Amino acid sequence: DQGERMEEEKRVKRRIVLVPVPAQGHVTPIMQLGKALHSKGFSITVVQTQYNRVTSSKDFSDFHFLTIPGSLTESDLKNLGPLQFLMKLNQICEATFKQCLGQLLKEQGDHDEVVCVVYDEYMHFSKAAAIEFQIPSVVFNVEMQDKLFPGLHPLRYKDLPTSAFGPIESMLRVYSETVNTGTASAVIINSASCLESLSLARLQQELQVPVYPIGPLHIAASAPSSLLEEDRSCIEWLNMQKPRSVIYISLGSLALMETKDALEMAWGLSNSNQPFLWVIRPGSIPPSEWTESLPEEFSKLVSERGYIVKWAPQMEVLRHPAVGGFWSHCGWNSTLESIGEGVPMICRPFTGDQKVNARYLESTWRNGIQMEGELEKEAVERAVKRLLVDEVGAEMRKSVVDLKEKLEASVKSGGSSCSSLDNFVNSLKTKNF
Ligand code: UDP
Repeated sequence: DQGERMEEEKRVKRRIVLVPVPAQGHVTPIMQLGKALHSKGFSITVVQTQYNRVTSSKDFSDFHFLTIPGSLTESDLKNLGPLQFLMKLNQICEATFKQCLGQLLKEQGDHDEVVCVVYDEYMHFSKAAAIEFQIPSVVFNVEMQDKLFPGLHPLRYKDLPTSAFGPIESMLRVYSETVNTGTASAVIINSASCLESLSLARLQQELQVPVYPIGPLHIAASAPSSLLEEDRSCIEWLNMQKPRSVIYISLGSLALMETKDALEMAWGLSNSNQPFLWVIRPGSIPPSEWTESLPEEFSKLVSERGYIVKWAPQMEVLRHPAVGGFWSHCGWNSTLESIGEGVPMICRPFTGDQKVNARYLESTWRNGIQMEGELEKEAVERAVKRLLVDEVGAEMRKSVVDLKEKLEASVKSGGSSCSSLDNFVNSLKTKNF
């Protein structure tokens, strides 16, 4: 009967192994996925490389963390771009991950069986071990799906993903090799059908395995996993600002800015007369280590109405009533977080899927202003005023609040993402892969 079944479920605790990419934008959602799966009764083991590790904190006190050996040379670390770094890491970690998984299987008890390896799409070395030990492996895709289907409305040629993490072909190759050759059992996606239903449907058609859109994970299962120290003094500064008056500026964990753009930005922000909170990561305006070697006018421009931090508690900032807009590089996490808090955006994408996200924000969801071409102070000033002062900004706020409500509904009981997560969990429990 039901009582007995529940007792049995409690005894048979199943373990899921997560393999994150050592980059903030990928670590955050996979740890949230871990939280979501843990709340469904699974034990979680996180296998990490020695680069950019999440450490066990009170938020993950029930998780089990393992680090696999393998390091790149000093010169590789200095010279390789993000994609080459990941390719090298994949080569180095294939054997050590096999060893690690083998050991885990040896040690597992009857009630703690490893049922699945969920790996970030860029950590494809994981699949060799999963194949060897005949454990289902699942690809976790953290980004928007339309990057895979360039032909789809509303994308233009210039919106197509490029560089940094590699050209679109490499992403497609990873997909088709991993998924359609039958080595992956399923794909989990940090998105919701209300955001991109057409491309999710198309992805499901192209792949021969189930696709589970279960996002946005930051709403479904919040799990703070910042790799850098957050400067909380900006919250006190925000407390002193008027409601919806502040523009928050952050370009995520990887994007770099040229000195001349930083200056145009500072001029434009200053001329807009709006208060601004600007995240400048150390090293993000090379060759300056932080802001000290920028021309003197920079600090003059930002000192009056601006507040600068090296890294912010972004979710808390977006949720703050003083924040009226988000100037963003449109990374997928930042995009989901901004929509999730009902904050309209100014979109200044750099690479990868960011251009796709920016195009969607402006033309499909209608809650963003795209900044294209050279960055000039007049354009910066105009965009900030349009978003924070003009009628157009108020309309965008309405659209984004609508979308926020849809996203919240999708992760609640009966919503599309919530059902999708349940379907995934059931297929694991019934070993239906
Ligand atoms: N973030 C943060 N503090 C900051 C800037 C960014 O906590 O000052 C977080 C942000 O909330 C998001 C992540 O870093 O979860 C950035 O991920 P995204 O996909 O937006 O961009 P990426 O860093 O991958 O380019």
